Amino acid sequence: DKLGFAIVGLGKFATEQIMPNFKACQHARLAALVSGSPDKARKLAAQYDLPETSVYSYDNFDSIKDNPDVDIVYIILPNSLHAEFTIRAAEAGKHVLCEKPMATSVEDCEKMIAACQQADRKLMIAYRAHFEPFNLDAIERIRKGELGTIKAITSDHGRPVKPTEDEADVWRVVKKLAGGGSLMDIGIYALNAARYLSGEEPVEVTAQEFSDKSDPRFAEVEDNIHFTLRFPSGVLASCTSSYSYSEVKRGRVFGDKAWLDLDPLSDYKKHTMKIGDDEGKQEPEIEEGNQFAAELDHMAECVLHNKTPKTPGEEGLKDVRYIMAIYEAAKTGKAVKV
Ligand code: NAD
Repeated sequence: DKLGFAIVGLGKFATEQIMPNFKACQHARLAALVSGSPDKARKLAAQYDLPETSVYSYDNFDSIKDNPDVDIVYIILPNSLHAEFTIRAAEAGKHVLCEKPMATSVEDCEKMIAACQQADRKLMIAYRAHFEPFNLDAIERIRKGELGTIKAITSDHGRPVKPTEDEADVWRVVKKLAGGGSLMDIGIYALNAARYLSGEEPVEVTAQEFSDKSDPRFAEVEDNIHFTLRFPSGVLASCTSSYSYSEVKRGRVFGDKAWLDLDPLSDYKKHTMKIGDDEGKQEPEIEEGNQFAAELDHMAECVLHNKTPKTPGEEGLKDVRYIMAIYEAAKTGKAVKV
């Protein structure tokens, strides 16, 4: 049996990546749409064979509690709106899948976790890389010791943000909606990857930021931010995040026996892995999977079998805490213990 999902926010990611992938799911199906634009919602409802009674506005969203066809609400809104809609969804008795970054403050993350706990609902943050076969394969190889002892991790995530060309980038350069710049949006992939690849939580961060303040895109949010994470075992991660690089989303893990490269590490499709050592390098054969369907199915299975999601609210909160520490380190020029 499939559980019904309501999508909140019918923007670029929701319409281009998520909604088309329900057809590949075993336990998840599209059941309702929540949007600020009735025309867009009606058109999409028709396209996906949903009745008009399954279309909600942001104002009447709370009445979704009376719709038994909806089990899970998936929030795909600008970052600062995640908290409000997660809390309203939990209060309406629905389980919540919420996009990354979980929220724009630690306090909001804590309120989201508390609301879902109080309503006895699941809360999962949509970290799709945790459901992506190349990343899962890399984690397995690292844990099995294939690279030897891990010494360092590097990861770079960047792309040119284009608010004058792409509607989806307009809110990304507005601090009140995005919470921050490249780090909140894509640097978070490097941060999260450093954690799941090392399998550890950082104890200290350092950072440096540079943004050209004469560029109107960076009047409110950061462009380039470089940060390091020190992990308890001594693993050092050094990461860069940018809103002006030509697109890059890669990571490399350095062990004392071999290194492992994922380039891209966090794309929508076509990942590649290379493993190398003194003898040369090889490209293991890994089957590309559907990370979106896997993620949606996982959320549904957690509800069906009363399991804790692999990436629960607590996972989202950790990254938001580290992001705040990175911003503090960049501002003060001092290492910050976390
Ligand atoms: P988008 O701008 O295309 O979509 C956001 C939607 O929210 C739009 O339909 C917009 O109309 C609506 N909205 C509601 N209130 C708004 C307001 N006050 N201001 C602006 N828009 C408002 O953006 P997107 O790229 O789809 O990103 C949405 C969320 O999804 C973000 O949290 C982003 O981080 C996340 N995202 C995740 C991935 C991923 O790979 N997991 C990829 C892209 C985006």
